[in-house]
Amino acid sequence: MNKRTDEEGRPIRAVAMMSGGLDSTLAAVHIARMGIEVHGVRFSTGFSPVAGLLKAGKDRPPPLAEGGESDPRALKVGTGVEISFRLIDISTDFIRDVLTSPRYGLGQEMNPCIDCHIFMLRRTRPVMEEVGAHFVFTGEVLSQRPMSQNKQALNIVEEQSGLKGLLLRPLSARHLDPTIPEERGWVDRNELLNIRGRSRKTQIELADRYGISDYPQPAGGCLLTDPVFSKRLKELIDHTADEEKLTPEDMNLLKVGRHFRLPSGIKVVVGRNDAENRYLEGLNLERWSLQVMDHGSPITLVDTSADDDDLNTAAALTARYSQGWEEKEVRVILIRKETEREISVEPLQPGEANSWMI
Ligand code: SF4
Repeated sequence: MNKRTDEEGRPIRAVAMMSGGLDSTLAAVHIARMGIEVHGVRFSTGFSPVAGLLKAGKDRPPPLAEGGESDPRALKVGTGVEISFRLIDISTDFIRDVLTSPRYGLGQEMNPCIDCHIFMLRRTRPVMEEVGAHFVFTGEVLSQRPMSQNKQALNIVEEQSGLKGLLLRPLSARHLDPTIPEERGWVDRNELLNIRGRSRKTQIELADRYGISDYPQPAGGCLLTDPVFSKRLKELIDHTADEEKLTPEDMNLLKVGRHFRLPSGIKVVVGRNDAENRYLEGLNLERWSLQVMDHGSPITLVDTSADDDDLNTAAALTARYSQGWEEKEVRVILIRKETEREISVEPLQPGEANSWMI
């Protein structure tokens, strides 16, 4: 394909904000096929699910250093198109600046999609400047999501992101006002698409045409749209005095296990299987870690501020989910940093902890 150039003969470059889903992949391929050099960015908010990975017996993907950025990597998409993209960790800032105080509200669950788009696009602008790109584009589709992708929301995102006129939505562009890239002839509006609404039919046809077969299901990649995760998150925020102190590790803890809030307010998380136990052990937390001795046992994590009564209750809860749950008494080992203790407890009986379950 011929490289497209601007009025001064410079190759036209664009930054693609990619979510990893089909729409943003299609948008990137569509723009790249026009002869435009595409530089992808993908943001890690820390809200990707881990259940599928754990089920498949895989470890979690190695986390990016907090606030860090990966080297550009090549993404082969479909036939003959390769897009370079970098992954940028925004997990800590995302909790502080987006999650706990979304200006434009939440979707059906705890998903602050409008604020999230604004935040990510603001972070995209420096990349645009760094690579000397002419504009930024996304895979947003008009009216695909009632709250975050209606016309008003798209306009708010464009205004607030600091990319007025420079934000192209190639999949729906012909339903939207022309942008600077179209007015300046960097892209031909006639080659842009007019997809609108919730149906995925056109995208699936386009994916077939571009030879893209391996793509995730829509909205499967963000736990903030998941009702169970959202319930746990809301409960955590409600029990946290200073929400801004919440960390990505706190969010990771919400992704697995059975969650309990003891009457004292202490949080207890009990692993449900080997994979979850390994995951909990791997979390770099300062919490107490409990395990029943002499029987198959879950790993249980308990808030650092737990007192002896809380630890006894958490130990009995751990015992209830261990293979020693029918014993009169079991031994439980409690570890926190350099401290190690052993106590004996009577396992709680099924149903006894139901009212603490989150
Ligand atoms: S679904 Fe999650 S990642 Fe996507 S825009 Fe909404 S909050 Fe952001």
